[in-house]
Amino acid sequence: QAQPRPPHIAILPSPGMGHLIPLAEFAKRVVHHHNFTVTFIVPCDGPPTKAQKSVLDALPIAIDHVFLPPVSFDDLPQGSKIETLISLTVSRSLTSLRDAIKSLISRANLVGLVVDLFGTDAFDVAKEFNLSKYIFFPSTAMALSLFLYLPKLDETTSCEYRELGDPVTIPGCIPIHGRDLLDPVQDRKDEAYKWVLHHAKRYRLADGIMVNSFAELEPGALRALQESEPGKPPVYPVGPLVKMEFSNALDEQSSKCLKWLDEQPRGSVLYVSFGSGGTLSYDQINELALGLEMSEQRFLWVVRSPSDKAANATYFSVHSQNDPLEFLPKGFLGRTQGRGLVVPNWAPQAQILGHMSTGGFLTHCGWNSALESVVNGVPLVAWPLYAEQKMNAVMFTEDIKVALRPKASENGLVGREEIALVVQALMEGEDGKRLRNRMKDLKDAAAKALSENGASTKALAHVVTKWKTQFSN
Ligand code: UDP
Repeated sequence: QAQPRPPHIAILPSPGMGHLIPLAEFAKRVVHHHNFTVTFIVPCDGPPTKAQKSVLDALPIAIDHVFLPPVSFDDLPQGSKIETLISLTVSRSLTSLRDAIKSLISRANLVGLVVDLFGTDAFDVAKEFNLSKYIFFPSTAMALSLFLYLPKLDETTSCEYRELGDPVTIPGCIPIHGRDLLDPVQDRKDEAYKWVLHHAKRYRLADGIMVNSFAELEPGALRALQESEPGKPPVYPVGPLVKMEFSNALDEQSSKCLKWLDEQPRGSVLYVSFGSGGTLSYDQINELALGLEMSEQRFLWVVRSPSDKAANATYFSVHSQNDPLEFLPKGFLGRTQGRGLVVPNWAPQAQILGHMSTGGFLTHCGWNSALESVVNGVPLVAWPLYAEQKMNAVMFTEDIKVALRPKASENGLVGREEIALVVQALMEGEDGKRLRNRMKDLKDAAAKALSENGASTKALAHVVTKWKTQFSN
């Protein structure tokens, strides 16, 4: 007799490497620990990117993927914000999603659909097929707590949040000024805000929400999220799920980074990167370069071409650029040769943060980057750019205290002297030592949460049991 087919889940990642990467790790755990099979159904607005393909192609055989036909944005006004584009990519893909799900059902025991923070419109399709509906929230418990609180905050506030005199109290979190809340809530008249509010309201339709965090990292927020309340779905901390195992086939540039790190003293290198989408202005690149030079520390810097338009200019297209090294100050490469390595656009970040020579991380505070630093015990210089990164920076600097944050001067730029001071303090100072010790504690707590009997492992097992029950019914 043929073996019964294993239970299967479909995962719909909304655009963004920061969404796809943790979902891929999540899928691997579900496959390896619970014998599921998985299909990624990927909506997009153009051909698949190199970065997307490299993540999806590297997945184990039990994890399949299909790309939905690209949606068109031709009708959108110029300047539509990223959260609008991400949400529309999903909502304009519902017809093709329906077809993909129908076809999956014909060949697999599909039990559930998992979407990420901007994917709640797909719940309508899940409902038609009687699938359970889950959210994987690839950011902080703090941001999730804000999402669940947003409908109420929206009703009780008449001005922009940044105009509020008092800080906003997100349940379970350190009070935070309105201007530091995530980007798309900064302009309540913009479509992006309407989209975020739309999703926030629909979070209550989920059968459960998994969040990529763990108790020791965000105790207050997670406690608040787990208090039961009518209409609030159960919340499961399943993190930190980060890119862990490394592909053997490194491209030339990646091998060069790791080889260079091999030659540096232990804990001596500051890794500098702004995630998959982060860009700086031309003037800011200049200050950063000169600040790194002044700091006299070793550094490995992933450089992007400048953008004066937006801080997330490469969100949809990490690799499609001219040569970023051309924008560096004159003579900089020569003067820092041996002490600094500069690579264009993309570096093997997980390996770099796990390398013994890496002792600090100047980061845009994207949540995956931050978690990758946590699991390796690497302290941070916080340089938030977009999305919820300012919230993350406040949390890391003021609440958990594992980051130093350079101050911008009056012209809005972070100056070279300030950069040099903060980098030195992190790499050599007493402050840096304190932060490093604290990070080390979090690293141990993270490993424990993910161990066989750890809290995050158990939380995921709980969700999986619910899926299996549905499957046997
Ligand atoms: N990443 C990488 N190399 C790079 C830049 C980014 O491997 O040069 C990976 C990084 O390790 C992380 C993800 O891309 O897993 C970025 O996610 P994050 O949430 O930090 O930021 P986002 O790109 O979403 O702003």
